[in-house]
Amino acid sequence: MEAYIGGVIPVSTVDWPGMLCSVVFLAGCDFRCPYCQNAGIIGFESKHLQRLSDIKKKLSDGRGFVDAVLFSGGEASLQRQALNNLACFAKQMGMKTGIETNGSRPFVIKSLIEDRLLDFVALDVKAPLEDRQDSLLERVTRSRTFFKSTGEVVTSIRRTLSILRENQDRVQIEIRTTVVPGLIYRVEDIVRIASELKGLHCTWCLQQFRPDVGELLDKRLVAVKPPSREFLLQLKEACLKKQPNIRIRVKAV
Ligand code: SF4
Repeated sequence: MEAYIGGVIPVSTVDWPGMLCSVVFLAGCDFRCPYCQNAGIIGFESKHLQRLSDIKKKLSDGRGFVDAVLFSGGEASLQRQALNNLACFAKQMGMKTGIETNGSRPFVIKSLIEDRLLDFVALDVKAPLEDRQDSLLERVTRSRTFFKSTGEVVTSIRRTLSILRENQDRVQIEIRTTVVPGLIYRVEDIVRIASELKGLHCTWCLQQFRPDVGELLDKRLVAVKPPSREFLLQLKEACLKKQPNIRIRVKAV
């Protein structure tokens, strides 16, 4: 079997909190977030096609050294069969498995959890979940297409959140919001995201946008100054009543 794979990091200490993991980047994404830092792998391009047997060989090489495999992207859940296949393989090797997702494919996340193929889910809640065509979510994700409305995207992310709520005793949950000045940064918007997370047993990471890390999708954001740690702490302070477990993630270069 082949899949669109953007690359494999053999060892990462930062992508899954507390875990030494390999990271598999599945190429292709259904969002077009302007601040995306993996712009080179969000298309389904033939140059990314790789045999899963080759990916498995790379994962096997880490056995005994890394504890887990994390599936990232792109949006890993778009390649359901390949994801399932690789997660099964990781489990057979005795590793834990996790996924970073934008929440657009709740049924894939649900079936992976039900099949005990996921120990960790990092879900992006990129903006308040508003069902409007010109919503902030649409500006932050550019996910609306001729075939899919903003309302459908919101419903999918909400459904993913519900699935995580239903399984919060079975999986480690991290919610991530990237704070980007001029796009998603206003206190009232961040507080509205916090309201969506009320009662969810998770860690919520407020991540600092860094224009100098990775390959930006919208090059105009290169000039944006990263939000300061102090600013992120103010946002955290404003949200603590609704979601007490908030971390600030300031990226190292
Ligand atoms: S940042 Fe957005 S466009 Fe980039 S991989 Fe994630 S969801 Fe897709």
